[in-house]
Amino acid sequence: MSAATTQQEWLERYSGALMNTFGPPQRVLVRGEGAYVWDADGNRYLDLLAGIAVNVLGHAHPAVVKAVSEQLGTLGHVSNFFATEPQVTLAERLLGLLGVDGKVFFTNSGTEANEAAFKLTRRTGRTRLVSATGSFHGRTMGALALTSKEAYRAPFEPLPGDVTFVPYGDVEALRAAVDETVAAVVLEPIQGEAGAVEPGAGYLAAAREITQQHGTLLWVDEVQSGVGRTGAWFAHTAEGIVPDVVTLAKGLGGGIPIGACIAVGDAADLLQPGNHGTTFGGNPVAAAAAHAVLDTLEDEDLLAHATATGERLRAGLADHPLVADTSGAGLLVGIGLRKPVAPQVQAAVLARGVVINAAAPDRLRLVPPLILTADQADEAVAVIRDVLDLHVPATTSTTSETEAPA
Ligand SMILES: *Cc1c(COP(=O)(O)O)cnc(C)c1O
Repeated sequence: MSAATTQQEWLERYSGALMNTFGPPQRVLVRGEGAYVWDADGNRYLDLLAGIAVNVLGHAHPAVVKAVSEQLGTLGHVSNFFATEPQVTLAERLLGLLGVDGKVFFTNSGTEANEAAFKLTRRTGRTRLVSATGSFHGRTMGALALTSKEAYRAPFEPLPGDVTFVPYGDVEALRAAVDETVAAVVLEPIQGEAGAVEPGAGYLAAAREITQQHGTLLWVDEVQSGVGRTGAWFAHTAEGIVPDVVTLAKGLGGGIPIGACIAVGDAADLLQPGNHGTTFGGNPVAAAAAHAVLDTLEDEDLLAHATATGERLRAGLADHPLVADTSGAGLLVGIGLRKPVAPQVQAAVLARGVVINAAAPDRLRLVPPLILTADQADEAVAVIRDVLDLHVPATTSTTSETEAPA
């Protein structure tokens, strides 16, 4: 069986058979349980990446396994020529969690949720869009047009227009960019791919006020920050606002692909019959998985747990001499480093059995499953601190010692 095939051999076969879009994979994983994964050579890792903020209940959670197995054994896929109960109840449930009157379009991913929202904005009769620097909204052409990173965009121009980028967190720049020609402003409440970068208190509230003044839609991309990750069902509620559009994906299915474009109030009727579609979106298996995720988050009080565990991770790392700042909310955690060594830190931490992510040269991102225990958080902190120690120049401690008396 595969026991004879080593991880190195799998990686060679990978590069022979899969497009080289992601660079070399870090490991070949064969199994997961709770907050742990195992590689093809039998090594165990504590997983603080969770499939990029996806596996909110960790790996192989019994509630998700049961829901998916039962639904697949009952009715797996029907297309959107037919309705299913899990799809209808999930839409109602998401609107209830948001506390709004609205309507939902289901997709299979974050980028597709944003494509649906992008098309919805076109139906306002306006074509201009405003996005933020540092943003990430996905890799399909429409979502890419709203993503700021030049390296992602440049090879694929021309992208759909007409998008203006404003500095994230700068209220006056946003105010200056929005007028009656702007269909929508799209913002992440906390920028996930950038490394849990926050815009500052009051920014989303100001964005709501500015968009309202000009009849512009406020579209909040909660693909990464939504579904409990920040300790609230949706990160934008911390600012007390009601957006016109909310997009979700990553954590929603607990590992089963599902996304959602939720439109509030009048925006809910912008997309009309024939305007948009999907074959797989909102299929009953994915909807059942999402129900299992939401049930478990509720039953086990995992939102409050995410807040506490996130604070534990930040507090455990904040005082390390190499750490410049900690950011984010709940279990969307950013760790700013004083030196651009995040990729090396990621690799060394992995070699010691913990999965984390270098979101930028000087920024780590921790997006663990919401079931991460306090002990597991402490274990991860100890390993990360050990590795950070290696990057603190030997002179630092000597200097502070010699300078201390002065
Ligand atoms: C990951 C992400 C996306 C894209 O989601 P995919 O499922 O990878 O297409 C969009 N927006 C945000 C904020 C994300 O973090």
